[in-house]
Amino acid sequence: MNEVTIARGRWLVTGGGPDDPTFTNAAVAMADGRVREIGDWAEIRARYPGAPTVGSDNQAIMPGLIDGHHHSHGVSGLQQGIEDQLLEPWILSLRRARPTDPYLDTLISAARLLRTGVTAVVDVHSGSGPAEGYDSAMGRALSAYAEAGIRVAFAAGVRDQSYLVAGGDDAFLAGLPADVRPFAEQELPVPGAMTQDEYFAIIDRHWQTYRDHARIDVWFGPPGPQWVSDGFWQRIAEQAEVYDTGIQTHVAESVYEKLHGPRDYGKPTMLHLRDLGVLSPRFSIAHGVWLTEAEIAVLAETGTAISHNPSSNLRLRAGIAPLNALLESGATVALGMDGTTLDDEEDMFAEMRLALRLNRTPRLGTPAPSPARILEMATAGGARLLRKDTELGRLAPGYAADLVLIDLERVTWPWVAPEADPRDLLLLRAKAGDVDTVLIGGEIVLKGGRPTRFDVAEVGRSLADKLAKSPYPAEAAARVAALSPHVEAYYSAWEMPEPAPFVAYNSRR
Ligand SMILES: [Zn+2]
Repeated sequence: MNEVTIARGRWLVTGGGPDDPTFTNAAVAMADGRVREIGDWAEIRARYPGAPTVGSDNQAIMPGLIDGHHHSHGVSGLQQGIEDQLLEPWILSLRRARPTDPYLDTLISAARLLRTGVTAVVDVHSGSGPAEGYDSAMGRALSAYAEAGIRVAFAAGVRDQSYLVAGGDDAFLAGLPADVRPFAEQELPVPGAMTQDEYFAIIDRHWQTYRDHARIDVWFGPPGPQWVSDGFWQRIAEQAEVYDTGIQTHVAESVYEKLHGPRDYGKPTMLHLRDLGVLSPRFSIAHGVWLTEAEIAVLAETGTAISHNPSSNLRLRAGIAPLNALLESGATVALGMDGTTLDDEEDMFAEMRLALRLNRTPRLGTPAPSPARILEMATAGGARLLRKDTELGRLAPGYAADLVLIDLERVTWPWVAPEADPRDLLLLRAKAGDVDTVLIGGEIVLKGGRPTRFDVAEVGRSLADKLAKSPYPAEAAARVAALSPHVEAYYSAWEMPEPAPFVAYNSRR
């Protein structure tokens, strides 16, 4: 018999689903990286005497959280001096970020995720430029994940159109004043930029490298429909089928992305993707703030999953996604942080609370998610998005031993009523800083709030040194400054139909 280890807690929350019970004074017996047994602490202790134990009666155990949509970074856009603004000009402004090191970046990001109890993440990575640089950045990011020990679906993508604006680089260029046009031309692909064939070869190499890795999956991450031609979409979908791997993209994040569908495809974007034949349960989208009812129905019909990312949507003036309609549709709904959270510091507990509070709507008799339903999104929902719902997303015998130990000192101080629901207390009161220990596949990867496999302080110093030596990207900043008003003018000219929102949060009359 392989060695058993035990996690004990005053509370044991096994998940957010209706069949996931919560226990008190309980323990999880683990072996071979999986949950073997869940039960009373004293009984488990007696059954496995001498088994190494983590946790205490002042900690709670819950399943590892799943971040359904993320972009790893070591320092945020704000730390790079890039202010939040509406999505389209914000994306342009990211081009003036200083280049960073994908390996160090990813380690810092993994440390931030582990510290808030995230044990699996979908990391969408968009690169550009020549194939060699793309290949090396992807390789370095993946090796950081292998070192950190967190589970990842690494969704790597590249665009092959709409380098300046959605649906009309030529018209946009033609309309620019002569003195601005050279700035725009520098944003177009240069000779030697990665071809589709080179992209597929790079993905194949990394997919082969990690195909048997227990915690790393290589996915496709085409950034969004406006940036990817129909033929490229179909090649990606075919290859994902061959690998039996996932695809994640951004859809209907901003209102301009909503308008783009009818303008360029003659129909809403999700209907276009359905008609291309690329949607399936291996396909997931981030955001969907501006999905129509027909598009939400397409999610449910095709098994396409969606990650709800409420912080990011507020920061980038994207809006508030119709979460209640998404949940009612039966589609798989996960929760993600998008590398852009309200406090600019990854905290899945804060993200869960924001998702909950934003969608308890201001009218009696309308649907409103419960804390448990939100926890379900951040656990089993994420697991379904990953197509790993038989092994991740809840604590039950046979499931992976991915669990989080939360210090209850602050959460319960000075007192909580015995009848208060532990699951609600954790979701509504815990913060990233309360996470003490994280186990993935039964291995302790965070202890005392610090990653066990690498020295995060040292990584932070190395990253800071590199960035401090990196000169201000003056030319890129000049391009962004020159182009930004024209990008805003381009989208501002799009006809905006009168909105018919799912929920009214206030009223003019
Ligand atoms: Zn994103």
